[in-house]
Amino acid sequence: MVLFPREKPTGVSSIDILITGASWLLTMDSKRRILKDGAVAIQGNRIVDVGKTPDLLPKYPNPKETIDARGRLVMPGLVNGHFHSTQQLARGLADNVFAPTWIHDRAYPYEAACTSDDVYLASLCSCLEAIKTGTTCFADPGGYHMDRAAQAVEETGIRAVLSRSMVDIHTAGRPIPGKMREDTRAALDGGEEFVSRYHGAAGGRIRAWFSLRTERMVSDDLCLRTKELAGKYKTGVESHNSSVYDSVLRHKEIHHGLRPVERYYKIGLLGPNVLLYHMNWLTDAEVDMLQETDTKITHCPTAAFMGGYGTLQSKHVDMLHRGITVCLGSDNGLESNFNDMFKVMYCATAHRDYRQDATLLPPEQLLEMTVTNGYRACLWDDECGTLEPGKKADLIILETSGPEWIPIHNPVSNLVHAADGHSVRTSVIDGKVVMKEGRILTVDEDEILARAQTAALDIARRSGLEVFGQPKWPVV
Ligand SMILES: [Zn+2]
Repeated sequence: MVLFPREKPTGVSSIDILITGASWLLTMDSKRRILKDGAVAIQGNRIVDVGKTPDLLPKYPNPKETIDARGRLVMPGLVNGHFHSTQQLARGLADNVFAPTWIHDRAYPYEAACTSDDVYLASLCSCLEAIKTGTTCFADPGGYHMDRAAQAVEETGIRAVLSRSMVDIHTAGRPIPGKMREDTRAALDGGEEFVSRYHGAAGGRIRAWFSLRTERMVSDDLCLRTKELAGKYKTGVESHNSSVYDSVLRHKEIHHGLRPVERYYKIGLLGPNVLLYHMNWLTDAEVDMLQETDTKITHCPTAAFMGGYGTLQSKHVDMLHRGITVCLGSDNGLESNFNDMFKVMYCATAHRDYRQDATLLPPEQLLEMTVTNGYRACLWDDECGTLEPGKKADLIILETSGPEWIPIHNPVSNLVHAADGHSVRTSVIDGKVVMKEGRILTVDEDEILARAQTAALDIARRSGLEVFGQPKWPVV
């Protein structure tokens, strides 16, 4: 689906950034070419040339900035296909609890206690963690005060799909906080107001979607009106779905015995602009429905590992084999607890162990899930996800001289199996250097982290969650 026509670069004589000497340059183009001694030329927010350094140097003699990538690997940035930016300050408040407790007794009270300023700080911190570990784009199912999350995205320089949560059923499981209760009309108005205001904001780095937050908590009416609005604004719809077995059972109780994907299919919600999160408990018939409608999926293995969701018995591997777009996501700071997509990629290899099949999910496929499929799931693959002329300049530069990198035979294997996000030294997003040699250039990282620590303790006290974050061992 092409939502935004690509602008072709014209008449490039001088450029803004020239990256030279990359020991390894992963283009991730249709041939998956890897260039030795690679170079990238950037003008404005677009890549204008990619090739060998000796070929590009004479073509662009006076770049405004040159980045020396000798001894380094250059590649497209990673996509976190499911990332609650606003939950970052709840890290450590929901360890070792089952999903219903997690959502009703930890996540919702945390969100209800967050002020607008708390959401801003949490979002800044989550963007920092993402950028510092190589993520250049994320999809966020939203919460409330999302105008402040948009502000954090704008200021840090990252790319994001953002949305405002919508729910209109308040009895699915235990009650949700009063602050989060809305009827169908209010939920739609809130969602539409956010999309009309933020779709295309931050110079096009923000795309605003609609979020049917949790499958069992949204009525058929809300789903169908949301689908209409997504068509009107030419944007996407995201929704948590079939994360744990308990949520499927509760959905069936509320929605006339239908399973979550079955209901979404029956009412006509599914489609190429719909992104569903988790998807751990599906029938073969539901997989058929997803394939038929080209619905996109985010697999969140590390969130499942924390919460015991049962993701290794899922059908994600089968869905990939059937050509369904499955990307990867970390989820959030209190379920998964980290947002380093290199670690998420590695953890997805657990499917090999569960199925006792070492050939599953080779590193090239895991990287494609995190880059190619990630941008496709975000409906941004027409503009991002490869290092090619005309594409948006979103790329990362990794140091490859450390002991975890040596020896390098196949750099893609090292990326997934041996390295982690700390190898990322420099990040360029939308043509702007947002991190250079590990230092964030767009915002004051030290000040943000110091303020966030104080704010997080205060939120924990106000929400009554403080007790759950205490050390289990005596502190003397
Ligand atoms: Zn989530």
